[in-house]
Amino acid sequence: MDFDLSPFQQSDLSDAVTGLMAVLDLELRIQWANRAAGESVGEDPENLLGRYCYQVWLGRDTPCEQCPVQSTIRTGMYHKGEVESPDGKVFLIKNYPLRTPEGELKGITEVTLDITEYRRAEVSLRRQSEKQALLLESVPTQIWYLTDVETYGTVNQARADFCGLSREVVEYKKLWYILSEDEAWVCRDGNILVFQSGELICTEEWLHNASGEQRLVEIIKTPKLDANGKVEYVVCSGSDITERKRAEERVYSLTKFDNLTGLPNREFFLELLGQAVSRSKRFDECGAVLLMNIERLKSVNDTLGEQAGNELIREVGRRIWDTIREQDTVARVSGDEFMILAEGIETGEKARRLGLRVLERIGGELELSHRQFYPEASIGFTLFPHGASDPDSLIKQADMALSGAKKSANRIQQFAGDEEGISREFHLEQDLKSALANEEFQLFYQPQIDLQSGKIVGLEALIRWSHPQRGLVSPGEFIPLLERSGMIASVDAWVVRKVCEQLRSWRDEGFLVRASVNLSARDLGNDSIIGVISSTLEENRLPADALGVELTETELMENMDRASGILRTLSDWGIRVALDDFGKGYSCLSYLQRLDIHVIKIDKEFVAGMLENADSLTLVQTIIAMAHNLGKEVLAEGVEQREQWQKLLELGCDYGQGFLWGRPQPPDTLKVQEE
Ligand code: C2E
Ligand code: CA
Ligand code: CA
Repeated sequence: MDFDLSPFQQSDLSDAVTGLMAVLDLELRIQWANRAAGESVGEDPENLLGRYCYQVWLGRDTPCEQCPVQSTIRTGMYHKGEVESPDGKVFLIKNYPLRTPEGELKGITEVTLDITEYRRAEVSLRRQSEKQALLLESVPTQIWYLTDVETYGTVNQARADFCGLSREVVEYKKLWYILSEDEAWVCRDGNILVFQSGELICTEEWLHNASGEQRLVEIIKTPKLDANGKVEYVVCSGSDITERKRAEERVYSLTKFDNLTGLPNREFFLELLGQAVSRSKRFDECGAVLLMNIERLKSVNDTLGEQAGNELIREVGRRIWDTIREQDTVARVSGDEFMILAEGIETGEKARRLGLRVLERIGGELELSHRQFYPEASIGFTLFPHGASDPDSLIKQADMALSGAKKSANRIQQFAGDEEGISREFHLEQDLKSALANEEFQLFYQPQIDLQSGKIVGLEALIRWSHPQRGLVSPGEFIPLLERSGMIASVDAWVVRKVCEQLRSWRDEGFLVRASVNLSARDLGNDSIIGVISSTLEENRLPADALGVELTETELMENMDRASGILRTLSDWGIRVALDDFGKGYSCLSYLQRLDIHVIKIDKEFVAGMLENADSLTLVQTIIAMAHNLGKEVLAEGVEQREQWQKLLELGCDYGQGFLWGRPQPPDTLKVQEE
C-alpha cells in the first residue's frame, strides 16, 4: 500500500482504541490489526495480515453486503452500522476512509466494538419497560421525556395523538419539529428552567393540537437527577385543561364584570383600587376616587320601563368612559352608581375638574323611548393616600361626600375628613386589646344543613363582641381591626379552644355534632394554629373530624405556599376544610384541585340574587358543577327562603346555611332546639 501505516503501529495509539481496530485495503484484506483484533480470534495480529476480514471475524466466504464497510467503499465517506455474527454476537462497526495525500481512497480503518452484552441488556430492559409502557399508554394524560432542553425522548400515545403524529415521528426529535416556532420557544424556556434548577416546574402552555385547535395544556416537568445531582432527563406530563380554564374564565367574567355595561363590577373595582393605593404609597403618588350616582334612575324605570332604564345606564357608562383618560378606570358598582379611579391626580381641584367634565358630558341629550332626556348625576370624591389608604375607607369617604354633593348647587363635593369615624375606629381598637382578658367575646353557632334530608350536619362558630358601652359590635367591624393589629391569631386560638370545650360538653350530653371555625389570613402566616388545634383536640378527647375550618379565597391566595402545607396537615388529620365566600374573590378554580379543600361555600350574595338574577343563577350553577367535577362538596350560604332551598336542591347543591334554618345563636338555645 502506498500510504503510511506507521501512526497505527505505534502501540500507544492502538491501545488507546478500545475494541478491535484494523486497516483494510479496498478488497477488504487486513493490512494492519491491533492486539485486541488478534486476541478476538486467538491469533497474533501479525498472522492476520493479508487475510480477508470477513473470513477472520465472521467466518464467511464472501463479504457481508450489510456491512457498513461496503458503503464506505462505495461513497468514500465514514459509515457505521451493526453486524451480527453467525454465532449470535453483535458488533458495532465504524469505517473511516483512508486516503492518499492526493485524496484518493486507498483503504479503510475499521473499528469494531462487541456490543452483544449491551444489546442483551437492552432487550431485557425493554421487556421490563414494556409493562410500564403499557401503563403509560393506557392513561389519558400526555407523558413524554426530554433528553435535553429541546429534544424529546420517548412519548406515550396520548402525547403522540395530541400532536397528531405517530410516536416514532415524535420521538428523539427537536421541539421545533413538532411545535410551531412560538410554541417551541415557550416550551424551551420552561425546559431551561428545570434543567438549570433541577426542580419540578408546572407551566400552562397554549399548544395546537392535531386538528390545529389551540388547547391549554397544564404541564408538570419533573427532572430525574443523577448521582451528582445533575439532570439526566426530565419526565413531563400534560393535561388538557382548556375546558376547565374556559369555565374559570366564565366564572371570572361573571364575577368581575357588570353584565349590562361590560364595565368592571364593585369587587373588581375594589381589587384595582387596592392595587392603585399600594402603588401610590410605593411611588409617593396620589390619586382620586370618584363615586357617581345617576339621579332619577328609579323614575325612569317606573315610567319608561326597565329597557329604558338599562339604556340610560349603558349610555352613562359609555359617556364616562369617553370622558376619562385612557389610564383611568370606571366601574359600575351598584344599580345607579359608577366609580372612577384616576391615578396621578394630586389635588382636589384637579379631581373636581375631572368630575365636572364627566357631569357635563353625562348631561347631554339622550333619546329614551322616543323622548328627549337629559341625564343628571352627582359626584362625591376623595383623594388617596392622604384621605385614607384602604379601599373600603376610600369608598366610604366618597359616599359621604356624595350625600353632600346631592344637596350642593354644582352636584360635586370633596370628602372633608371624617374625624368621627376615625376616632371611633381608634377607640374600638384600644378597647379590643382588653376584650379577650375581660371575657367580652362570645361564640354563637349557626346550623349547616344537609339539603336532601334537612338535618343538621354541622355548626359554624361565629364570634360576637359585647362592648361594655356600645353593646354588640359586628365581627365585620372588629375582625379587620384585630387583623390589622395582629391580635386575630390569639382570638382565633381562643375560638378554637372554646369550640372544642363546647363540643366536649355536647358530646358528654350525647349531642354528636361537628363545628367549624373561621380562620383568618394571619393564622396561615405561621404554624402556631396547627399546634393549638392539635393540642386542644387532644385535651378535649375529640376526634379530628369533629372540627372544621373555614378560610376565604383571598386569605388563601395571600399565603398560598404556607397555607397549602397547613391545609394538608389539617386534612391529613381528618379536619374538614371549607373555602368561604367563594365567588367574591379570585374565583380561580385551578388551584382548588391541588389544595386540600373539601367544601366550597358559595357566597351569600349570589344565593340572595339567584332567583331574580340570571347571572347569579348561572354563577351558582357553574360553581356547583365545577366543584363536583373537582370532587368537592358545595354549601350555599345565606339561604333565607324555601324557594332558594328548592332551587339549590335542583342544582345538586349538597348543604345549606342561613336564616331559613336558624340564625347564629348562643350554644344553650341551640341545644334546646336539637332536643
Ligand atoms: P362568614 O364566615 O361568611 O360568616 C357568615 C356570615 O353570614 C355571618 O355573619 C352570619 O351571621 C351571616 N349569615 C348567616 N346566615 C345568613 C342569612 O341567611 N342571611 C344573611 N344576610 N346573613 C347570614 P357574621 O356573624 O356577622 O360574621 C361576619 C364575618 O366575620 C364572617 O363571615 C367571618 O368572615 C368573620 N368571623 C366571624 N367569626 C369569626 C371568627 O371567630 N374568627 C374569624 N377569623 N373570623 C370570624
Ligand atoms: Ca365562615
Ligand atoms: Ca361566608
